[in-house]
Amino acid sequence: MTTWILRFCQNIRVNSYKLIMELSYEEIQKAKETDTNNPIRMIRSRIIHGQDPEDFVRSTVLPDHPIVRRLIDYAHKTRHHAGVQTTLFHLREQFWISQIRRVVREVLQKYVTCSRYTSKPVVTVVPAPLPVDRINQLAAFEVTGAALAGPIYLKLGEKAWIVIFTCAVYRAIQLELLTSPSTEAFMQAMRRFFARRERSCIMYTDNKTTSLGTSRALCTLNWHEFKL
Ligand SMILES: [Zn+2]
Repeated sequence: MTTWILRFCQNIRVNSYKLIMELSYEEIQKAKETDTNNPIRMIRSRIIHGQDPEDFVRSTVLPDHPIVRRLIDYAHKTRHHAGVQTTLFHLREQFWISQIRRVVREVLQKYVTCSRYTSKPVVTVVPAPLPVDRINQLAAFEVTGAALAGPIYLKLGEKAWIVIFTCAVYRAIQLELLTSPSTEAFMQAMRRFFARRERSCIMYTDNKTTSLGTSRALCTLNWHEFKL
């Protein structure tokens, strides 16, 4: 019906070539593209002047539907259980399926045989046992880890650093603010930390300049003269 209507519109135009013969293939295809009630849509590619088959040039647009999934299923089986890419290329020669890659992947995932060939081996990761310092029944911050974070920028544009003291057993933390990453500033932060908590028996740090400087400075002290 649409084809006849289009022919009528063509014939009533002034100075147009009057069509009186039977409906041509081109007219029917044009009607299919313009008919809003026709559920079958076709897209027109840019290679219409080539020698390719008509289905390839004007692919049929298909939605994600159970019947379309059966079509993908058929294409997959007739291609000897081909992968996603090969099945997809084969289908695109005739059809333009909405979100085709996702739909094809979902259809192929249900095949146990195919999944067996594409699945990855299960590698069991055995976690390493925790060190003794992490599992001993100790007071909070008796074994501590210290790390420097930053720099961060304050409101007035000054640089600042944060020392994170963390308890190795209970994972509690205390933060101290530094305005300099120097050894002196770090030692002052340690002093504030020890004043607030207890003095740690063991302290783990990274191997950076501030930590090493603090370690060297503390090694020069004669600890036997301290009243602990
Ligand atoms: Zn398969």
